[in-house]
Amino acid sequence: MTAPGEPARAKRARPIVAIDGPAGAGKTTVSKMLAERLGFTRVDTGAIYRTVALAAMRRGIALDDDVQLGALVGEIGVAFEYRNGATRVILTNPDGSKDDVSEEIRTADMSLAASRVSARQPVRAGLLGLQRRLAGNGGAVLDGRDIGTVVFPDAEVKIFLTASLDTRARRRRLFASPRAAQTGRGRGGRRHVRDDAKPGGRPHGGGRFRKMEIVVAQSAGFCWGVFRAFDVVDAAVRYAAGRKVVTLGPIIHNPGVIASLEARGVSCVDPEIVPNDQTVVVIRAHGLPQVKRESLATLGDNLVDATCPFVARVERAVADAGAAGRLALLVGDENHAEFRAARTYTKGDVAIVAAARDVATLPKTERAITVIAQTTLDRPTFDEVVEAVRARFTDVVVENTRCDDTRDRQAEAERMAHAADVVLVVGGKNSANTARLASIAEGAGAKTYLIETTAEIDRAWFKATSRVVILGGASTPRTDIDAVAAALETMEING
Ligand code: SF4
Repeated sequence: MTAPGEPARAKRARPIVAIDGPAGAGKTTVSKMLAERLGFTRVDTGAIYRTVALAAMRRGIALDDDVQLGALVGEIGVAFEYRNGATRVILTNPDGSKDDVSEEIRTADMSLAASRVSARQPVRAGLLGLQRRLAGNGGAVLDGRDIGTVVFPDAEVKIFLTASLDTRARRRRLFASPRAAQTGRGRGGRRHVRDDAKPGGRPHGGGRFRKMEIVVAQSAGFCWGVFRAFDVVDAAVRYAAGRKVVTLGPIIHNPGVIASLEARGVSCVDPEIVPNDQTVVVIRAHGLPQVKRESLATLGDNLVDATCPFVARVERAVADAGAAGRLALLVGDENHAEFRAARTYTKGDVAIVAAARDVATLPKTERAITVIAQTTLDRPTFDEVVEAVRARFTDVVVENTRCDDTRDRQAEAERMAHAADVVLVVGGKNSANTARLASIAEGAGAKTYLIETTAEIDRAWFKATSRVVILGGASTPRTDIDAVAAALETMEING
C-alpha cells in the first residue's frame, strides 16, 4: 500500500513480502507456497524463535531471564540451508560449532517454549536485526504476527491473511503435532503452567503440571483494519521524507503503540487543529467528520486516509439513508469518534441510541428509518434495537454494519468465557471494542479483568485450578498478549 504521490522505492533489488494475520489463518502454508512460486527465500520466523528457545534450554537459561536471553541472542546464529528439496535450520553456537536442529525444534514443548521467549522484549529486539539480515536485499517471504508492522514496516508487499473462526480452528487441529494432540495442546492456544518454571530451572524439561490452564484466543491481536492503518502510516512516513507526520487523534487506542509511533516521529494531534501545508496528515481508522475532511482537501497528496473500510461503510450507509429521505438511526456509542464522524455524512435526520430501551424515546413518526450499527457493536444489542424499532415503526431497513473482525472476536470471546473461571482482556482502557469484549466475558459469567500491561495482574485473582482465558482487543499488539500469557505461566499461585 502506498500513500498518494509516494516516490518509488529504490532500495531493494527484489521485494520483501510480509504476511501477517491471526493464528490458524494459513500464514505458514501461504508463505511456503509463495516463496516456492516466486523463487524467493522463506525466512521462517517461528523456527528462529524455536531455535533460540532450544539454545536457552540447552544452557539451562530460564525462559523469563531477560538478561541471559538477551545475551544469548547476541551470541548465537540461526541460518536456513536448502538441502535435498528441504529447508534445514542451522544453529550456530557461541563457540562457532553448528548443529542441524531442524527436527529438535519441532516438538510441542518447543512450540510452547518458543511462545514464551517470543514474549521477552530483549529476544524480540535482538532478533529484529537477524530477521532483517536473513531477508537480505529482498527476494524474501516472511510470516508471523506483527511482521509487517514491527519487523518490516517498509516491506514492499504486505498481506494480511485471515479466515473464519471455524476454518482457523480446523487448521490448528489439523496442523497440531501428534504430541500436542495427545496432551490437548494446540498450536499456541492452550497451555498449562508448570511447577518447574522457575529461574534457573528447566522450564520444559519434565516435572508435573499444575492444574491452572491458560488459553489465548485465536482472534487476539491486531484486526485487519488496524493492520491496514499502520500500513498507511508507514507509507505516510516514507512519503513525508523527513517532514512532520501527524494523525488526527490516536491512530488506535493503545498507549504503548502511540508511544512507539511517537518514537518514529509520528505525533497524534487534536483533530480540530488546522495543520500547515508542509505537514503530512493521516486520517485515522475511525474516520473524520465530512466538513473537516472537505476542509483538508486542500492538502492534496499530504492528506492520507487510513479510515477503515468497515467504518467507511457506516458513513456510506448514513449518506444513503439521508439521500433517500430516511432517518439514519445509529446504534452504539454517540461519543465514539466513529459516530461523531459518521453522523455528519448526511444533512438529513440522524438519531443515535445505545440500547433497545432508548427506542421508546424516539418521537413517533411515519418516517422511514434505516437502522445502522456501530462497527464494534455486539450482536445481541443490535438485534434488540432492531426488534424494538420494528415494533414501533413500519418502514424499517436494517444495515448490519458490524465489522467482520468484531463479529468473529466477540463470538469467540463469548464461547471461551463460558468455559472460563477468569478472563483477562488485554487492551487500552479507552478502547470501545476492548471494553465490549470485557462486558461480553462478564455477561458469560467469568470473573473478568481489563488490563493494559502485566503490571496490573494480581495473583489473588487466580486459584491453582483456574481456567484462564486471555482475550485481546482489535488494537492490542500480539506482543502484549504474549507477555500476559508468559507472566501467567511463571506466576506462583497459592491454593
Ligand atoms: S475493529 Fe473492525 S471497524 Fe474497527 S478498525 Fe478493526 S476491522 Fe475496522
